[in-house]
Amino acid sequence: MKKMHTGYGAKFKAFYCGLFGHHYSVTKKITNHIKEYECIHCGKQVSTDVKGNLSKLTPQRRDINRTLENLYSKRHRATAHQQVA
Ligand SMILES: [Zn+2]
Repeated sequence: MKKMHTGYGAKFKAFYCGLFGHHYSVTKKITNHIKEYECIHCGKQVSTDVKGNLSKLTPQRRDINRTLENLYSKRHRATAHQQVA
């Protein structure tokens, strides 16, 4: 039986990020100003907060983002509808 070093890779990646910083890519666009990101190396998830800073993507923040996303898309649809009418 082969022993897998699954834990080691994650630790090394976290170490790498500690040295060189996280490399975030956008996973979800909430509004023009708020996006969710994930580090391509260690998978850490962060989100833009209302002040424009990156903070850890907690379940609470994810909920807030989903709410914002709904409000944002609704408002956008409403605007588009007004323009058509
Ligand atoms: Zn990272």
